[in-house]
Amino acid sequence: MLSTILEILDASTDELVRLQTSLVAIPALGPTNEGQGEAAKAGFLAGYLSAFSGASLEVIDAPDPRVESGRRPSLVIRRPGRSVRTLWLIAHTDVVPTGDLSLWQSDPFVLRREGDLIYGRGVEDNHQGLVSALMLLRALEQAGAETELSLGILLAADEETGNALGIEYILRERPDVFAPDDLVLIPDFGTRDGSAIEVAEKSVLWLKFTVQGRQCHASTPDEGINSLVGASALILALGRLNHVFDRQDPLFDPAASTFAPTRKEANVPNVNTIPGQDVFYLDCRVLPGYPLDDVEREIRSICDEVEAERGVRISFSHVVREQAAPASPAGCEVVTRLAAALREERGIEPRVIGIGGGTVAAAFRKRGLPAACWSTLLNTAHQPNEHSSISNTIADARVFARLLLDSGEQA
Ligand SMILES: [Zn+2]
Repeated sequence: MLSTILEILDASTDELVRLQTSLVAIPALGPTNEGQGEAAKAGFLAGYLSAFSGASLEVIDAPDPRVESGRRPSLVIRRPGRSVRTLWLIAHTDVVPTGDLSLWQSDPFVLRREGDLIYGRGVEDNHQGLVSALMLLRALEQAGAETELSLGILLAADEETGNALGIEYILRERPDVFAPDDLVLIPDFGTRDGSAIEVAEKSVLWLKFTVQGRQCHASTPDEGINSLVGASALILALGRLNHVFDRQDPLFDPAASTFAPTRKEANVPNVNTIPGQDVFYLDCRVLPGYPLDDVEREIRSICDEVEAERGVRISFSHVVREQAAPASPAGCEVVTRLAAALREERGIEPRVIGIGGGTVAAAFRKRGLPAACWSTLLNTAHQPNEHSSISNTIADARVFARLLLDSGEQA
């Protein structure tokens, strides 16, 4: 049965390009990005799925008054196996805006193909994952395959602007969708060689610092308190965070937590004024073992020291604060089965890794459901001329097929 399915997948290029062409033409932008959400795209996909009689479709609507339809639909597709235990493939339907159109070589919402590559907004993030999952479903249907594991495909809304009306909504309102022993795989992260399986994330803390001094004429600096000098002293003092939180975890690259000053807002417009207020930002990626409360306590004490030395007042507030979920155990079943499928299918030795930013997997891990992120990507997401490889998409679907069918034989 596996070989039949792999053959169908290998012959699915035309179908894949047709589906990508349709998806690219329906830009699903969230209202934060001045779009109308996922309703039109979800409607198209529901029509596409109606051809597959062995699969059921459930639409979960998160209410959102900011879009005309009033809802942000996520699609839950189930193809039952002999066991209720389910292999979940999870992708998202929304995309990010095009950015500067002059940087695109063709219309981002009209698919362009050049050999193995297809271009358009969303073709990689996350249509590649979405289409590879649907190509597997199509192959199973064409082959009339019976599987041990059930196949679940979740096409979620609202991934690009925070997940609140997508995966977070589903896990909160409909926790019954996922069972504790289901296998959760998220094809929305990947490397070019497909060898990296992501199981952990660092906590993300973005802080805005406001350094308050006293403005005065630059010819008499002693009459004021220079906030730029205070902010500079603070930026250097924050370097201490690297020494206080110096644990290393080889799962991650870089292995340590990072604390990077990034954005700086404009202060005075002219050269001859001592600035009275400076605002800058710090991007922290903290190993999951450290509570962010501890990091913030250390930052406050650094601020207190700089205040005492420089006579400025310093406050900071959160722009983003996400305590990392515990890592999925490297030996959890979805990882070991995926690793086995990759060895067999591609003859490669997978690496289990952690990354610096949040993915949808964190929402599962927070609830004690192990989840792995994996696919084979050129990593052009969010860029102008976003593109993806047709052969990578099919190759990933082949790995999913092995995961679904090989594991069925073992179970
Ligand atoms: Zn994505």
